[in-house]
This record gives sequence, structure tokens and C-alpha cells, in this order.
Amino acid sequence: MPQRIFSGMRPTGKLHIGHWLGTLNNWVRLQNEYECLYGIVDWHALTTEYANVAGIAGNVIEVATDWLAAGLDPKRSLLMIQSLVPEHAELHLIFSMIVPTPWLERVPTYKEQREVARRFNGFYRPLFPEPQAMLSETPKVVGTDGRKMSKSYGNTIALSDSPSEVHKKVMSMMTDPQRTHRNIPGNPDVCPVYLNHQSFTNADEVAQINQACRTAAMGCVDCKKTLSASLERAMSPIYAKRKEWERRPDEVRDVLIDGSKRAGEIAKCTMTEVRKAVNIYYGRE
Ligand code: SF4
Repeated sequence: MPQRIFSGMRPTGKLHIGHWLGTLNNWVRLQNEYECLYGIVDWHALTTEYANVAGIAGNVIEVATDWLAAGLDPKRSLLMIQSLVPEHAELHLIFSMIVPTPWLERVPTYKEQREVARRFNGFYRPLFPEPQAMLSETPKVVGTDGRKMSKSYGNTIALSDSPSEVHKKVMSMMTDPQRTHRNIPGNPDVCPVYLNHQSFTNADEVAQINQACRTAAMGCVDCKKTLSASLERAMSPIYAKRKEWERRPDEVRDVLIDGSKRAGEIAKCTMTEVRKAVNIYYGRE
């Protein structure tokens, strides 16, 4: 029996290449080795979007479309919506009864999540395996302005951007601020264009760019054109797949509804055991 993995994303907007390199790539790989459940955690979106709920349902479909385009396969992974598995809320309620206030006053981390499972198991009976974090090397993806790529900074390259949109964004990217003229040598280490080359351009070419920048043998315009071509190469399979799924939003929704039903079956069994463990069980399940 493969080990089970659960991970999720909040539906706060279209995904960008930072999500892809940092998370989605891993998820796609993991679905070959583990039983994977990936959730779009719409209730969780309310933690920041409570005053701005109009976009949540639409964002759920956008995120799922990005997932499918990036290679998550509903036949191998279970893709679900948090609020369609209401057992989640029941378990949250029960867990919230046993978590002491000082724990809530600390910043929640994986450590506390493990502690909640241990506390439940200790009070009642061993039911929950303590979750283990699977942390991966996250490549640094910087946005077009040199800051961390983030929707809130408006500096992203989205998975849904067309090749011409990507090109336009790349051509407007910040470069080494000291390189104010074509014949002034640059420092690739401080240049957002170069940092993205490191993720998307092959290693030999990256080494050449590094050298050519430092000796002013290459100008920033050509350097950006090379990055734009690298991104187009890397993103075009996702872009093409996304276009196909975009035409079938009902199918995207059905994938999520089907996955949520399957997740619900697993959750129902777990909750029956939880109710028995806390002795609030009346034999109706
Ligand atoms: S040549 Fe490339 S790496 Fe060097 S400063 Fe210009 S854009 Fe950045």
C-alpha cells in the first residue's frame, strides 16, 4: 500500500511559474510513487478573502485547470475541493477542543500539526499517523521586478499567459540596475533575468550568458529574448494543455466533484473512527 500524501492550495488566483517550479512539478512526480490527494482549500481562502468572496468559486476552476495543464492526472491523483468534504470541518471542530490556547498563540508549523495528532492519539487511541513534512528544494523564482514572484506584487508570469504575453513580460523585466548602458559589463548575480535563466535555460547556455554579461559581450535585449525563448519552450506543453481544458470547464468541475466524492468516502471512514474514539457515536454511520 503506497503511503498517502495530502497537500493543497488556496484558490486565490491563477497560478504562476513559481508555483509550477516550487510545487506542481513535485506533485506531478509524487503521483507516480504515492497515493496523492490534492485539495483546493476554499474554506481556507476565507482566512484572507473573507471580504472579497466573489472570485473564490471561479478561482477554484482556474487553479484546477492549471493543475491539470501542469500534469496532475485525475486517474492517479485525487483532486478535490475542501468544502465538498465537510468531514474536514467536523474534524477541525474536534481537534480545536483539544488544542491548548498557548499552541494557538505560537505560529503554527508542521511541528504543531504533529503535536495535534499526537495529543489526540494520546487522549483517545492511536488513530492518526503523525504527518511528516516532505520539504523539497524550492528554486528561487523571482518576479519581473526582482522581488519574489507573487500575485500581490503584480510581477508574475502566469501558467495561463500566452507566448506573446510571456515575451512582453520578459522584455519589460528589470535587469542589473548598474548596467545602464550596453557597453557597461553587468553582474548577473543581481539580475532577475539571469536568475530566471538559471531555472529555465540549459546549463551550458547559462554559463555563456554569465560570461557574456560580465564582459558586455551580450546586451540585455538579446539576453531577454533568449529567456523568452526558454520559457516558451518550457511552458508551451502546459499552455497547449491548458487551452484544451479551458474549453471544458464543466469537465474540470466534474474532476473535482468526483475527486471530492472519493475523498469523502475516505473521510467518512476516518470520522466514524474518530467519533467512536471520542465516544460521541450513536451507531448511525
Ligand atoms: S545581460 Fe542578461 S544577465 Fe546581464 S544584466 Fe542584462 S539581462 Fe541581466
